[in-house]
Amino acid sequence: MPQWLAQRAQLTPDRLALETKNERLTFHQLYARVRQTASSIQALGIRPLAHVASLQANTLTCAVITHALMMAGAVMVPLNTRLSEDELTQQLQDSECSILITDQTFYDQAVKVRARTGCTVLLAAELEQQEMPLAEFNPEVRLDDPCTVIFTSGTTGRPKGVVLTNGNHWWSANASLINLGMSPSDQWLCCVPLFHVSGLSILMKSVIYGMPVYLCEKFSPETVNQLIISGGITHISVVASMLQRMIDQLGENTYPESLRCVLLGGGPVPEQLLQRCLDQQMPIYQTYGMSETASQAATLPPEYMLDKAGSAGKPLFPIQIRISLNEHEAAPREPGEIMVKGPTVFSHYLNNAEATENDFDNEWFRTGDIGYLDEDGFLFVLDRRKDLIISGGENIYPAEVESFLNGCAAIRGAGVIGVPDKKWGQVPVAFVRLKEGATFSETDLIASCKAHLAAYKVPKRIFTIDKLPENASHKLVRRKLYEDYEKMNQ
Ligand code: ATP
Ligand code: MG
Repeated sequence: MPQWLAQRAQLTPDRLALETKNERLTFHQLYARVRQTASSIQALGIRPLAHVASLQANTLTCAVITHALMMAGAVMVPLNTRLSEDELTQQLQDSECSILITDQTFYDQAVKVRARTGCTVLLAAELEQQEMPLAEFNPEVRLDDPCTVIFTSGTTGRPKGVVLTNGNHWWSANASLINLGMSPSDQWLCCVPLFHVSGLSILMKSVIYGMPVYLCEKFSPETVNQLIISGGITHISVVASMLQRMIDQLGENTYPESLRCVLLGGGPVPEQLLQRCLDQQMPIYQTYGMSETASQAATLPPEYMLDKAGSAGKPLFPIQIRISLNEHEAAPREPGEIMVKGPTVFSHYLNNAEATENDFDNEWFRTGDIGYLDEDGFLFVLDRRKDLIISGGENIYPAEVESFLNGCAAIRGAGVIGVPDKKWGQVPVAFVRLKEGATFSETDLIASCKAHLAAYKVPKRIFTIDKLPENASHKLVRRKLYEDYEKMNQ
């Protein structure tokens, strides 16, 4: 294919490409800035297919660097800015990056990582400003070439480097387009991190569709609501906790009709939140996806929100989803491992042949998630395979118990794990973080669970905790709760 940004700048040079609080760039202007930056990158000796790490905030410069690395044919390795120094070091080494591009905000951290890895640290703004003679680049993109390495969130174990090809990103953008359609007035608000596939995929869509993106450096419910209400934003990607804060801030107001799509993914969605969105008739598209599928694999359109509440929808057009149970196809409503196949599915884990081998059954990717398809083919995601609790032969999905606890007035957050039990094999226990000033009675809370959940799902013990363990993507890390539990019982 022709190089994406070059082609886009050629087709619609004067259309708006990127907007922030302070700046607006057309595709022509973006192309000029990216070409200049890519020339600096090439002048440094960074060759096609070289791995280059990035530790940057959600800025326009970060977007320029992303496109510039693509133009130079390098493979970008975006790092989560909330990672600890140890984790950053590990990911830099795992991905064999000798160069780390950073910004002022994360410079000190980058320097510490340099001391441990010997990598070269480059400032993104300096790369952008160097006036190198303009270089020539490959005018074509090969869909099979690697484009990015994105590390998984590390919710179930050590993060794995997911190699996504140009073709994976191309198909992901197109699959979403086939599903959502497009109109000339579309503008996507990006307030999710560019180091996640959720944010990165918005940049890809922008160039492929010729669509403007409004980039927020930080998520703030006030700013986001104001941008939506002022009418320009048609699409936004969010996770449940962001949407919750947006709705809380919105109060009695409603969103205008110009808001066409709220793409809601990343993890389970609390029932109460969904209900509030339904009451407000918000255009929620619940979606299921992961780093390995270059973002969305399945999506539920708003017209099914009521009938198929809690579902993540049907596979996008080029994707197939099946449920595998003991290596066979599960029956409708029978839970098993969610398997995904299609052109958005990643090529392999970086330097981890064992995980790649284990996670593929020919071309079908084993997601490690448990779910089922209903009789109409709608996907319901239950939980992660590793976190499944089997108690007296019954399956318990911690997410279901957590969802109930999270709906209780006194509780700010909940985590449920399975612990060994002589009689039942495993039993569920819960950890809850209380809201400020809330009172807690374990007996009362267990009684409340008994009134709403099947007996085997009721936690045998409920402990309070000051803070639930989260990873750098704000996801609950249940294995850390398990470690806490083991320590308590030593
Ligand atoms: P790791 O693979 O390192 O354990 P991770 O799976 O959390 O980390 P990501 O690729 O960022 O890393 O997240 C994808 C996962 O998020 C999915 O596999 C799934 O478990 C969860 N997820 C995504 N969308 C949904 C959804 N709609 N409902 C429930 N869970 C979801
Ligand atoms: Mg995963």
